Amino acid sequence: MTQTRKTATADLAQLSALNLSDLQGLMEAWMQPKFRAKQVLDWCNKGILNPALMKNIPDVLRDRLLTSLMCEPLRLIRRECSADGTRKYVFALNRPRLAGKMIEAVFIPEEKRGTVCISSQVGCVLDCPFCHTGTQGFEGNLSAGEIVAQVLAIKADLRHEPMTDDLHNDVTHIVYMGMGEPLANEEGVHGSLAILMDEDGLKLSRRRITVSTSGLTPQIERLGAVHPVNLAISLHSAIDEKRDLLVPINRKHPLQQLRDCLNAYPLATQRHITLEYVLLDGVNDQADDLAALARFVNPEREWVNLIQFNPYPGSPYRGTAKESMNQFAQDLISKGIRATVRRSRGQDIMAACGQLKADTKGVS
Ligand code: SAH
Ligand code: SF4
Repeated sequence: MTQTRKTATADLAQLSALNLSDLQGLMEAWMQPKFRAKQVLDWCNKGILNPALMKNIPDVLRDRLLTSLMCEPLRLIRRECSADGTRKYVFALNRPRLAGKMIEAVFIPEEKRGTVCISSQVGCVLDCPFCHTGTQGFEGNLSAGEIVAQVLAIKADLRHEPMTDDLHNDVTHIVYMGMGEPLANEEGVHGSLAILMDEDGLKLSRRRITVSTSGLTPQIERLGAVHPVNLAISLHSAIDEKRDLLVPINRKHPLQQLRDCLNAYPLATQRHITLEYVLLDGVNDQADDLAALARFVNPEREWVNLIQFNPYPGSPYRGTAKESMNQFAQDLISKGIRATVRRSRGQDIMAACGQLKADTKGVS
């Protein structure tokens, strides 16, 4: 953090992207006692980014925070609650260049864990034809502060309006599976990972964070070197010609390159790489698809997660029938491959995988 105040046209530093030493630096510059940094950070960790709500800090510091930083990079526009407890949040961005653009995050509660699915970009740079986000084009990368702020806003919401007793009421896991290709935004994603894992921050371990990528191999290598979190790969076909169409980045980074890259990824003990495979009727669910997938998987280190296709208005594919999905899973299992069928959550509020597409036309 090098600046405290910039001209009106430039983006201010975002409070949610600051760590303890950044805040201590600011306190020193503002001639405030050092312990105030920890007080401010404690509020942030609870999900409170508005200085007016930080009860134990003096007015002069509140003013400083408000005038020198962008304290709240996101504005909650809408929250939708699914019958299964899943909550979808639509946020508008506040920073000048992307003001009013919208992104989405989802909270998925289970009995013993609470997973937040976060967005990393407005839209997506890539163009997978079965993905709703992909159809909206790319508008911009989220900053580290905007990515972290999604998690903080959900923490605050859960304190304000808790889940029912049978569901977990805090954020224990994070998945970068919302809008966007996380590894096409290394600055924002690496920065947010550092904050989410920080000892003085949310202290989430690398074992509880998963980055999902369509397979940008140089970026996967760098992620492994800097923040070796869990990895999920949007595979969707193990046949190059088919994957070229379904996941077009395959033309640049084909399967063999992906294979070598995955073999070298540093896994935490007892962790695996997830290969995500959305089953599309008649497209990638045939016997030759299964055989190719079985050949591709490294069963020692990788599990297959079969995903039910989530339709959206105008989507050009149909999902494979439930029974055939189960059969596909069984066939993999019989070949010694760990395979699960992902239960889709929050479908009734369009919060399921690949359904996220905020109306980015914007609000004022
Ligand atoms: N861009 C990253 C992360 C976001 S997409 C990636 O592609 O991995 C999160 C997951 O949802 C990916 O596995 C993606 O392939 C899957 N997905 C996209 N559209 C979908 C749809 N319509 N139905 C089911 N899954 C979908
Ligand atoms: Fe982008 Fe992932 Fe959707 Fe492909 S599946 S368009 S990489 S968000």
